[in-house]
Amino acid sequence: MRTVIVPSKPAAPPKEPLPDKTKMNGAARSGGKGVNILLVDDRDDKLLALEAILSTLGQNLVKARSGKDALRWLLKEEFAVILLDVTMPGIDGFETASLIRKRPSTEHTPIIFVTSVSASETNIYKGYSLGAVDYILSPILPDVLRAKVSVFVELYNRAEQIKEQSERLRQAEEREHQRRLAEAADLLDRETKRNRFFTLSLDLLAIADFSGYILQSNPAWESTLGYSEEELKARSGLDLAHPDDYQSMYAKFEELKQGTCTTYFEGRYRCRDGTYKWLGWTAAPFISDKLIYIFARDITRRKEAEEKVQNLNQELNNQLSALTETNRQLEAFNYSISHDLRAPLRSMQCFAQALLDECASGLGPEGQDYAERIIKSSHYMDALLRDLLQYSRVARSELSLSPVNLDAVIRDALDQNEKEIIDKKAVVEIRNPLASVIGHPMTLVQMLANLIGNALKFVQSPALPLIKIYTEPVDGLVRIWVEDNGIGIAPEHQGKIFDLFVRLHSNSSYSGTGVGLAIVQKGAERMSGSVGVSSKPGIGSRFWIELPANLSKA
Ligand code: ADP
Repeated sequence: MRTVIVPSKPAAPPKEPLPDKTKMNGAARSGGKGVNILLVDDRDDKLLALEAILSTLGQNLVKARSGKDALRWLLKEEFAVILLDVTMPGIDGFETASLIRKRPSTEHTPIIFVTSVSASETNIYKGYSLGAVDYILSPILPDVLRAKVSVFVELYNRAEQIKEQSERLRQAEEREHQRRLAEAADLLDRETKRNRFFTLSLDLLAIADFSGYILQSNPAWESTLGYSEEELKARSGLDLAHPDDYQSMYAKFEELKQGTCTTYFEGRYRCRDGTYKWLGWTAAPFISDKLIYIFARDITRRKEAEEKVQNLNQELNNQLSALTETNRQLEAFNYSISHDLRAPLRSMQCFAQALLDECASGLGPEGQDYAERIIKSSHYMDALLRDLLQYSRVARSELSLSPVNLDAVIRDALDQNEKEIIDKKAVVEIRNPLASVIGHPMTLVQMLANLIGNALKFVQSPALPLIKIYTEPVDGLVRIWVEDNGIGIAPEHQGKIFDLFVRLHSNSSYSGTGVGLAIVQKGAERMSGSVGVSSKPGIGSRFWIELPANLSKA
């Protein structure tokens, strides 16, 4: 065998762990400097010769002195090409090649046999059959060897590049796959949450198509109306509308198909058992998909409650009208009675008086007493009838309300009580300025005259009446106060003295009919006002009439 021999020590097989493959630029690269080339020969000189020839390639040359060494290297490293001497003691080149090929990791590693030109052709064929890719015959021609090894280095590099590229592609694909997976998971998650809302909602949710058929509905439909999803899907949703609501629901449906979102509306819907429930509806169309998203809520209980309130209101209104009518009739009756009774009463009075004046001697003392009692009673009855008549007038007559000049009204009311004021040496204080109110002047004169009359009447002698009249604004209204220094009213009586015929004293202590304050109350009521009193027994009373303020004081 003719070889160029360069004496050198063969490299010892690695005892220390080799560089981590992942840190290598390609598996057969050592430390990133070129690729690994395995030179296998039992002779150092030949190894050195090979090394010398190939060193110019700038690759990483690894030397093995036997087939065993070579196999050990191959266990730890990847090689771009193996130069294998055929004739070696122990395991020869062919055997080594056969073992190399048996290992999956090296089954494709190119092997170039190095052998002498005298090698028989049989040997060459054997080498090929064992997986050799080439033969180099000794003596070695350096250029040829370099050229051949370069081809395999190049091939290896290309293969590595392709591997790297495909790895990069694989990684990119993996990243894309991960991204899509994450997206899908996210979508699923959102979908699941949406579905949960859809399923758990107490409101009725559905998706319908433009022909009115429900495509999807949530379980609330079944729990509210009794239909399963399949039953709902089997017909147009409009078929279940109450006959009275069908037209309006149909109109809303047509609007939706034109792309108009419906404003909230209410309509009845038939349940599976044939009864109807009130539903509050809202819906939105998705024109591109020809779908309508429906949202409905069971409002039956609210509607029933509303209906009850309406019925109650109606009932109350009916009762009120009936009461008003009864009151009107009573007042009319009261008026005519009071009016019509006065004439016969007057004649009773006149005849009793005539008896006294003209037949006194014939009557005797007892008869005279009786006649006097008749006259007294008829006077009282006359006063009563007069007051009732007045009350009826205030209650019945048309009152046109207008701004009231309180100065004039109070003056008229005082005039009506002039005699009493003088007789009782009363002092009347009017605190100016007086506010202006909206009311009915004549009625207000009557009301104030009654209050002033009472203030003059209910005074314990020898005290002289002191009456103060003034106004006070209260929340857009005006209070007209009439204050006295009279006997006062116990708190427990203050609430009822405005009722008709209520009197706290006997006629012998304080005369009266018990109608005066009722007139005051009725008058205030007719003028959209109110009345009240605050009083302390033994100190005096303060009566008030509250009326709308006249805001247009021209
Ligand atoms: P009358 O004055 O004819 O008795 P009213 O309706 O005017 O009837 O008054 C009802 C009752 O209220 C009176 O009988 C009296 O007991 C009480 N009252 C009214 N005004 C006063 C007042 N200024 N001071 C004390 N008591 C009063």
